[in-house]
Amino acid sequence: MTNPATTPEPISFLDLPKQQARLGDALRRRVDAVMAHCKFVMGPEVEELEQHLAAYCGAAECVAVSSGTDALLIALMAEEIGPGDAVFLPAFTYTATAEVVLLLGATPVFVDVDPRTFQISPESLMTRIESVIAQADLEPRLVIGVDLFGQPAPWNELRNVADRFGLLLVDDCAQAFGGAYHNRKLGREAVATTLSFFPSKPLGGYGDGGAILTDDSERAALYRSLRTHGEGKTRYEVLRIGINGRLDTLQAAILLAKLDAFDAELDRRDEIARAYDAGLAGLVEPPQRVPNSKSAWAIYSILLPDASARDSLQAHLREAGVPSAIYYPKPLHRQPAYAEHHDETVHLPVSEGLGARILALPMQPELTNEEVERVIDAVQSWAKQEKKA
Ligand SMILES: *Cc1c(COP(=O)(O)O)cnc(C)c1O
Repeated sequence: MTNPATTPEPISFLDLPKQQARLGDALRRRVDAVMAHCKFVMGPEVEELEQHLAAYCGAAECVAVSSGTDALLIALMAEEIGPGDAVFLPAFTYTATAEVVLLLGATPVFVDVDPRTFQISPESLMTRIESVIAQADLEPRLVIGVDLFGQPAPWNELRNVADRFGLLLVDDCAQAFGGAYHNRKLGREAVATTLSFFPSKPLGGYGDGGAILTDDSERAALYRSLRTHGEGKTRYEVLRIGINGRLDTLQAAILLAKLDAFDAELDRRDEIARAYDAGLAGLVEPPQRVPNSKSAWAIYSILLPDASARDSLQAHLREAGVPSAIYYPKPLHRQPAYAEHHDETVHLPVSEGLGARILALPMQPELTNEEVERVIDAVQSWAKQEKKA
């Protein structure tokens, strides 16, 4: 029989009921306002959200769209990325980063990542660009930098490489809105910065949503047209092929309510990350920080020495009611959908090794101090047990 005193409630990885309770009336009031005016598509909350998001990071323009994936798709469509074009992106990221490249008929070229920060490696990027140039069958066009897990990609180094080869930069900031690089909020490091409001992202809605930030008003106008079937000045003037990529008014309303609490949530995430760093030092490898940056802490991932240590820690945590997750078990170039678009003789050793050793611990503002302690205690007791074995 299990003893209730020694089997505490499992900790939640993403506690949306608790989040709703914390946000309280603000959410309800925003949703009720939309239900009252009934402008469910492109209602006034959409533009209000765009203005707030642009102001938040100092970008000139924001275009709200239906998801982080559609934000990337539209940003690439605007640059007329298509067949014959090479788009460089990290192999260690979520599938959406690469998916849009293939949807447009272009070729993804996978780049390796840094072994400690997990961010795209500028050295690997150089090597991959040079090999595409040497092979001469694709035209290098664009680099998608991903701000993985909430930390910024090394934007200054990426910009140097991109400038040297005349490539465009796009920032896939789906996991990192609210983060900063060299004392500047993310949102202005590339020609376009794409956001996701999927519920588990730092600024998460209650459904799908996304946005594109840019300082270029011509690009913003193009994104707006592409978001609505390529429309011109009137609804029935079709200037180009676009998509239905609008953000629902109800999601905009929810995000407006959530924005008011966003900075406090980011502070809480940072507090939790620092508590983990201190409690886990010497037992596992805590995530190394990108220099001169601030993380939005979408994900807090530690590294273990090998797959068997990672699997045994994950099992031990599960027993203690502590959930964990693996982002990402396999790099994209090893996934069935992408393998045929990658030259298998090209190894990306860091991306290929991380999946076996990485583990994400609970990270959400809803965690109490007691829960954070429980996570740390569980890792400590696992480490003690490993030492004995
Ligand atoms: C979540 C995510 C996306 C896609 O965002 P959706 O809103 O789910 O379409 C793209 N890139 C990265 C790195 C992500 O984590």
